[in-house]
Amino acid sequence: MQIKRNVLLNPGPATTTDSVKMAQVVPDICPREAEFREIMDDIRNDLVRIVHGDLDIYTAVLFCGSGTINMDVCLNSLLPAGKKVLVINNGAYSQRAVEICEYYGLEYINLTFAYNQVPDLALIEKTMHEHPEIALVYTTHNETGTGLLNPIRDIGKLVHQFGAVFVVDTTSSYAMIPIDMEKDQIDFCMASAQKGIMAMTGLSFVIGKKELIEQSASFPKRSYYCNLFLQYDYFQKAGEMHFTPPVQTIYSVRQALKEYWQEGEAEKWKRHTRVFEAIHKGLKELGFQCLIDRKLQSGLVVAVRYPDDENWSFEKVHDYCYERGFTIYPGKIAGSNSFRLCALGAIDQEDIECFFKVLEQAMRQFKIKIPVEYR
Ligand SMILES: *Cc1c(COP(=O)(O)O)cnc(C)c1O
Repeated sequence: MQIKRNVLLNPGPATTTDSVKMAQVVPDICPREAEFREIMDDIRNDLVRIVHGDLDIYTAVLFCGSGTINMDVCLNSLLPAGKKVLVINNGAYSQRAVEICEYYGLEYINLTFAYNQVPDLALIEKTMHEHPEIALVYTTHNETGTGLLNPIRDIGKLVHQFGAVFVVDTTSSYAMIPIDMEKDQIDFCMASAQKGIMAMTGLSFVIGKKELIEQSASFPKRSYYCNLFLQYDYFQKAGEMHFTPPVQTIYSVRQALKEYWQEGEAEKWKRHTRVFEAIHKGLKELGFQCLIDRKLQSGLVVAVRYPDDENWSFEKVHDYCYERGFTIYPGKIAGSNSFRLCALGAIDQEDIECFFKVLEQAMRQFKIKIPVEYR
């Protein structure tokens, strides 16, 4: 079968290989069969291995849903009664965590920093010191809205000095930037199938310390469908998800993981880095500016400022590129006009070079000045 290949430069779902797409086409199966349980078991172990977790200490709990389900699960399940969440917030995805706290009526502190700055560790330390009731600290690794990389290892060290649990949203870095649970001081991280591992949408997973999940059995149950302990316990007892899993997505994940190990952690990160460098090169040639300092960037997302040109129209440029197989994505920073180009997925440098030819054509077509200008 010939499947049209699109190059997705949006922050997920990612471009997938044909072999991953085709892996979904399998005989019908009831997911309660032993054969299917074994597939999930292998996947769970692989997901822990990707972040170098010891399988005696860490586990992966699978959920049927998009990546936000993980954020919801961690926040609503891991907070003991009478304690507080500290959200270290310098972007749109940590802001989403704040909204989740709000919806569940959790006690929280929203410690905000500018979207273009790394959090101030001294201020985090001061906050932890003044609020011994903080039991859970939450932040985002790669802030997908800007592409800023947060210093999770340093934050995690502080969090652990105060005896709190550290939850990191690694949805847009997992299986791309090498992560090590122990060294990076992570108690819980998360991702979903359609991002770093380059499979289909519908499966998300939380990876974390078994001991802490078991402790959380006695914490208030704030959700029926999205409780971490309940889902973990069902996996322990029955080897399955509590409710229907995304069957075909799980087959695509099995194939994607096979391809992950074939490519290897270091090679894969090198490839994403090549893509990222090619994005910067292309942008520079056209005169585009980034929203945040290059030194702060994760290497996976570039947020680009709109040029000051009356002919610039993101929508028109998007449509022109989209019709030619390249998807670009709007920005996510309130009050700043930007778009994003992301380096995830089964793509390489040549795809980016082809994309910039198309982008340049689009700009000529719409009479946007090259190089672009900023006032
Ligand atoms: C993609 C992403 C999510 C999840 O978003 P969904 O739309 O629910 O898949 C969460 N956090 C970060 C940092 C992300 O990049």
